[in-house]
Amino acid sequence: MPEGDTIHKLAAALRPVLEGTALCRVATRAARGDPLREHGAMTAEGVQARGKHLLLDLEAADGRPWQLRSHLGMYGTWHQYAPGSAWHKPASAAWAVLTLPDRVLVCFHPRELQWCPRTAGARDVPRLDARVGPDLLDPALDLDAVVARVGARADPGRPILDVLLDQSLAAGIGNIYKSEVLFLQGCHPLRPAGEVTEAMLAGLYREAERLLRRNVKPGPRITRERAEEEAFLYVYGRRGEPCHRCGAPIEFARLGEHLRSTYWCPSCQAGNP
Ligand SMILES: [Zn+2]
Repeated sequence: MPEGDTIHKLAAALRPVLEGTALCRVATRAARGDPLREHGAMTAEGVQARGKHLLLDLEAADGRPWQLRSHLGMYGTWHQYAPGSAWHKPASAAWAVLTLPDRVLVCFHPRELQWCPRTAGARDVPRLDARVGPDLLDPALDLDAVVARVGARADPGRPILDVLLDQSLAAGIGNIYKSEVLFLQGCHPLRPAGEVTEAMLAGLYREAERLLRRNVKPGPRITRERAEEEAFLYVYGRRGEPCHRCGAPIEFARLGEHLRSTYWCPSCQAGNP
C-alpha cells in the first residue's frame, strides 16, 4: 500500500505536467475485461491528492466537467512514456490512458478507478469523506482534532497498528510509517487502542504528520534523524538486525486485520501483549 506521501508526491509531479494542458485523448476502463472507453479530448484543470486517492479534474471540449479518481492500492502505478514508445506493462492492465502532446500517462493495475461527471463527483465527495478521514498532509490540518477524532472513534479493543492504518480515521499512514511511528513512541504494535494513552496517541499522529511532511519530496523515504548511508528507517525491513537505539534484534511478524508486515524492537517497544 503506498504511504500517503506517495500520492502527494505523485500529485506534485503530475501537477506541472497536467494543469492547464490540452489532452489529445482520454480513455478509461470501467471494469476488468472491458475495453478502454474513449472520452475524447479534454483539458486538465487540477490534480489533487486526498488520502490515498488521486483526483484529476478535467473539462471536455463541450465544457462539461469530469473527474478521474484513482486509488493505487498495493500494485497500482502511473507510468509516463514518450509518444509511440512501448509500455512496460500489457495494454490489458491499463485502466486510464491520458495522451498529451509530448507524452502518454498510463495508470496500470489501480485498486479503484472511477470516471464520472464532476457534478456527480461533487455529490461523491461526502461519500469519499466517509471513507477517507482527514489527510495528515492537508496544509490546513488540525492535528488535535484528528487525535480527538481517532480517540473517539477507534474501538478500544482494536490493536493500535490497525487503528493507524485505518484511512477512515486519518489518511496517510501506510505500512512503513505504521512501524516507524510505533517505534518512535515506544509502543508495542498490538497494544489495544484503549490502552494507548491520549499523550501517546497524540505522539503517534504528530510523528506521522512530521514524517509524511518531511518526505514529500523526491528521494528515499527517511525517518531517522541522521540517516546513515542506506539506513534510512528505524525498524521497517530490518528483521533480526540490531535496534539503532538499544541493539536488540528487531522482531518481525505479519500482524493485524490484514496480516501486514510489522517490525518492532522487543526492548524499546516492550509491554503487552
Ligand atoms: Zn530498541
